[in-house]
Amino acid sequence: MSTHPLTTVFAPAPPGLPACAQVDLQAVSDNVRALKERAGAAEVMAVVKADAYGHGLLPSARAALRGGATWLGVAQLAEALQLRAAGVTAPVLSWLHVPGQDFTAAVEADVDVGVSTLWSLAQVREAASATGRTARVHLKVDTGLGRNGAWDPELDEILTESARLQAEHALEVVGIFSHFAYADAPGHPTVEAQQQRFEGVVAQARKAGLDPAVRHLANSAATLTNPSAHYDLVRPGVSVYGLSPVPDLGAPEDFGLREAMRLVARLSSVKDCPAGQGVSYGHAYTTTAQTRLGLVPMGYSDGVPRHASGVGPVQVAGRRYAVAGRVCMDQFVLDLGADSSATAGDEAVLFGVGAAGEPTAQDWAEAVGTINYEIVTRVGARVPRQYLGEDLG
Ligand SMILES: *Cc1c(COP(=O)(O)O)cnc(C)c1O
Repeated sequence: MSTHPLTTVFAPAPPGLPACAQVDLQAVSDNVRALKERAGAAEVMAVVKADAYGHGLLPSARAALRGGATWLGVAQLAEALQLRAAGVTAPVLSWLHVPGQDFTAAVEADVDVGVSTLWSLAQVREAASATGRTARVHLKVDTGLGRNGAWDPELDEILTESARLQAEHALEVVGIFSHFAYADAPGHPTVEAQQQRFEGVVAQARKAGLDPAVRHLANSAATLTNPSAHYDLVRPGVSVYGLSPVPDLGAPEDFGLREAMRLVARLSSVKDCPAGQGVSYGHAYTTTAQTRLGLVPMGYSDGVPRHASGVGPVQVAGRRYAVAGRVCMDQFVLDLGADSSATAGDEAVLFGVGAAGEPTAQDWAEAVGTINYEIVTRVGARVPRQYLGEDLG
């Protein structure tokens, strides 16, 4: 249970909604402030990809900027353009693209583009010439993650070609960046090796005639545990939303963070039920005594993992239960016990900050064998987001 002073007190979710994800924007701002303190001289890019990890792109992005983020990061161009269309003027970097995407729109909207391939460098050059503008580029280097990013021999060619295009003012290499494989295991030998490789590539870029002002490598875990990896800019994502990127090393409050999302449903019915009744598809659960069954109108289409069948923790009227039987598309059942006073319309809290004894997203991750990132990001589009603290900060 959290007792730190930053604990949020969420008001009950609005009645009349089957389910609701309450998002505390003040927590997002405060988390960014805490991350900024950790980052020291480095600036903070709040990563708001994937609808801000399920928290809502625009409100979360604005809250992060209020908290002191000076950059925003997204995976996909469409997310960057959405930010621009809504009037967000802060620098935005988008880094995961496919051939044929509208780089012209990106350059026109002043979106910084991550480049990790020769084909994207060529398409960015075309976009610059089509718009008559200088494209802003961050070169993404694979320093050992083995995923997105350039490595030799293409890296060499990307560096020399970028320098040539920069001399023509087609583009400006603003930044150079990379991503860790083991940031969540501080001290893992790959961390140091990737940092050394990163610094080597920065030197190589300078030799090629580039002068990338913004070097960035740290995600949430490295921002919180590895100051030597902060460089000019850090790129925290999951921690912006108050989740620990290293749950084995510390809970959110240990890093001055608090969970921004509370996921709640309203019981659709509570009915008395005899012993020996099978519950939900396949009767994977059977009542063992006379009891009361509560029906929760949320299912896997809303992001409740089907793997939570039998194990997902839910709080009703101050008591914790595990999902009884299978999670269905739109609903699941709780065995509330014969003495439960719960009635239809009561809150069923799937997760929140944990301060009132409710489960956290981390509890859900452990119950279903995944990571907290996936629990919040998968909350479905059908679940309305209710924003709290929007006018604060
Ligand atoms: C998603 C992502 C981040 C943020 O990672 P967290 O672990 O959520 O902090 C940072 N950089 C890149 C390149 C990413 O893809």
